[in-house]
Amino acid sequence: MIYLDYASTTPVCKTALDEMSAYFDLEFANPASTSTAGRRVFSKVEEAREIIAKSINASPEEIFFTSGATESNNWAIKHAVEALAMDGAGSSSVKKNHIITSKIEHSSVIQTCEYLKNLGYEVDFIEADEDGIVDVAKIEKSVKENTALISIMFANNEIGTLQPIHRICEIAKKHNILFHTDAVQAFGKEKIDVKASGFDMMSISSHKLYGPKGVGALYINKECRISPLLHGGGQERGMRSGTLNSPAIIGFGAAVKEYFEHREQIITREKQIVEKIKNRLLSTFPQIDINGSVEQRICNNLNISIPKIDHKKLLFLLDLEKIYVSAGSACSSGDIGISRVIEGLNQKNKREDIDGAIRISCSYLNTDAEIELFLESFERILKKMIQRQTSET
Ligand code: PMP
Repeated sequence: MIYLDYASTTPVCKTALDEMSAYFDLEFANPASTSTAGRRVFSKVEEAREIIAKSINASPEEIFFTSGATESNNWAIKHAVEALAMDGAGSSSVKKNHIITSKIEHSSVIQTCEYLKNLGYEVDFIEADEDGIVDVAKIEKSVKENTALISIMFANNEIGTLQPIHRICEIAKKHNILFHTDAVQAFGKEKIDVKASGFDMMSISSHKLYGPKGVGALYINKECRISPLLHGGGQERGMRSGTLNSPAIIGFGAAVKEYFEHREQIITREKQIVEKIKNRLLSTFPQIDINGSVEQRICNNLNISIPKIDHKKLLFLLDLEKIYVSAGSACSSGDIGISRVIEGLNQKNKREDIDGAIRISCSYLNTDAEIELFLESFERILKKMIQRQTSET
């Protein structure tokens, strides 16, 4: 197989696998237990917390383990506004019940905001421009006296565009509004310094960075008030009760450590692969549209659309040859209908003859031979589709 869907998920790296393995059986003690065995696991979990904290310049006590970024996003958004409501809006006499987010967020942010909207919160979903970048001026214009939270992703999961989150965070700070970012796709790829950036909350996920699935974290700044997600045994300093998934957390820490030791080389290699694919495809098929800004994007993502081509069929034909790319929105439910992100871009760019997109997301693990084989197969399949389509019309 040729796997070019690393934005969807990554394999667990060998170091993480090795580190985790003992914590399933030999070192199975509950990390909350005061026994020597429990304390051994606890100290390994805390080691993982330190590694993850260091990678984003946070303090270990600002890292809360979750089951992944879907949970982190739900927690950050629902419980930060809940805490403000319970506070009676803090020092302000205005009820803080307004949220600003964007139309290109991951479904775990969009659906959470929709849910809150149904409960009576006001939510503004800000559009992205024709390059797939959220408009800062529109965000600033949407700020109101009752705005509680701004949540904007660091990098888009479909088209890879980097969002102007530092400018947006500044706006939030200026108006005393909480700022959350979903950094799942940017973590490891972009330099992240939560302290210098002033983020209040940030979501990350292990399985996008060569760690196991089903584990992630929410960074919560020490000063940020947010209510607990799960009540119970008091784990995670009473904020997220439940027995810790120690093997997964330890694997997450090991994967992050390993990745950050090679980060520069990984980014250079991934940029090189994307450049190669982009240049070859554009020279063979000049009609290809690149979705999203060409400059402001993460290193391993290329998202393209081909006018008049049935993208679902192209994806299917590639799949038959064991070439795995994605329709862009497929990391959620396997649904490969046109995504709202691509639809928004098409409207902005007045493109009517496009019915979808192909997301190619590479890894440093891809070999030159794999990339060459991918390009040859892609070119052959697409040429045939174009030929058939012109002979039919
Ligand atoms: N946000 C973004 C931007 C994502 O790409 C994903 C994963 N597709 C998530 C959130 C959800 O992460 P998880 O799979 O850890 O729940």
